[in-house]
Amino acid sequence: MSGQHELLRSLPAVDRVLRADVLQDLVSRLPQEILTSSAQQAVADLRKRILAGAEVSAEQLDPVSVANAAVAFCQPYLQPSLRKVINATGTLLHTNLGRAPLSKEALDTIQTISEGYSTLEIDMDTGQRGHRYSHVRRLLTHLTGAEDALVVNNNAGAVLLALTALGKGSEAIVSRGELVEIGGAFRIPEVMEAGGLKLREVGSSNRTHLRDYEGAISEETKILLKVHTSNYRIIGFTSDVPAAELKPLAEKKNLILMEDLGSGMLIDLTKFGLPYEPTVAETVKAGVDVITFSGDKLLGGPQAGIVVGRKDLLQKIGKHPLARALRIDKLTLAALESTLRLYLQPEQVVERLPIMRMFNATPEEQQTRCQRLLDRLQAEGLPISLQLVEDFAQVGGGSMPQIQLPGWGVEIKPDTASVDALGRRLRNFIPAVVPRVQNDSLLINMRAVAEEEELLLAQLLIAAIRGEA
Ligand SMILES: *Cc1c(COP(=O)(O)O)cnc(C)c1O
Repeated sequence: MSGQHELLRSLPAVDRVLRADVLQDLVSRLPQEILTSSAQQAVADLRKRILAGAEVSAEQLDPVSVANAAVAFCQPYLQPSLRKVINATGTLLHTNLGRAPLSKEALDTIQTISEGYSTLEIDMDTGQRGHRYSHVRRLLTHLTGAEDALVVNNNAGAVLLALTALGKGSEAIVSRGELVEIGGAFRIPEVMEAGGLKLREVGSSNRTHLRDYEGAISEETKILLKVHTSNYRIIGFTSDVPAAELKPLAEKKNLILMEDLGSGMLIDLTKFGLPYEPTVAETVKAGVDVITFSGDKLLGGPQAGIVVGRKDLLQKIGKHPLARALRIDKLTLAALESTLRLYLQPEQVVERLPIMRMFNATPEEQQTRCQRLLDRLQAEGLPISLQLVEDFAQVGGGSMPQIQLPGWGVEIKPDTASVDALGRRLRNFIPAVVPRVQNDSLLINMRAVAEEEELLLAQLLIAAIRGEA
């Protein structure tokens, strides 16, 4: 065909595009406006390409081809956007993939509580109005040794709430080495500003001493804040002041000692080969008055921000209007209560909490699983080369960045197909598969892949490599 004019005149009418079978088949699934606007977009795209001088064949101008293009615009409405992912990245608490997977117990509780009504805010002894936090308060105080506890939407909210409720209009002292930024634009100095506190920085980035805190205290000081430097480490000539050493100073000057633990562990994880970090209970014991931590990091529960500490301070925090604004919903509460319950018997945590199972997996188990995947792929005679390689997993979620969990991976190098195209196909599946890309290959790390996902993972990889969409 020749001539822009002629091409433009041959563009099919939107009505004709809409009558094509592929779009008619969608009439029962999508509202008419979406079908119409998709057909309009497909025609408009073609017009734009003609005006840009692109080669357009007669076949591309056929109403059926244009309708096929229109179906692509309908796709976002046809499949859920938030969908399941098989996490083959080896990053266990991957923030972009939803952090900690929940236990079976937590999932069952979410279902039971959310399909009907619940005791969310009713005191079953008196029949009167009760408290939403009461469902986890006893568990949290038992597990941490703190006097009181409350829970909000996430840890960023917990920090903001605690600082605002306790320190608005006054000054908080923080070590320069702890002025952290956590992924997703959570910066301690900005949180303080939002909470109406004045930030007083002390020490240098690598070294802060007790005398630095002491020298900075003024009439306006109300809080000494410690922040876990979750996602980075300063290595070498460093020193910071542990909470236990700050405690006498806080007491002497009548200040609140607060610590944002970030991940906040309820049990000692050194038995999994992870480095020693003080547990929440040890932090309480060290005398910290208010402690905040996340529910969906190393705890292995739902997204939540947990605050534990002194009763008088927790009551003040709980009464602040922000506490209402940041309150936790019943689904989260259901999941959190059943996750915390597992910690009552720490030995069962390893079997029941997916995140602990992942930590506990040995390199030998990893190797067996990777070999199984490799054999499955090998048997298909696909145009790829396969290799079992030593590989490390990461904790993720900004926790323990220096830790490498040893194991294995399967490296898939396509003979001709591009790794990018392969990755895109995998992301479009339901469930989607997210591997790591390195050395022009896909790297599959099995540590965060559940056993029951193994076979499906192999099938999806095979389909993607064969070019099946
Ligand atoms: C992760 C983290 C936060 C933010 O917690 P969210 O639950 O993601 O809101 C705050 N402080 C520290 C030290 C963290 O590691």
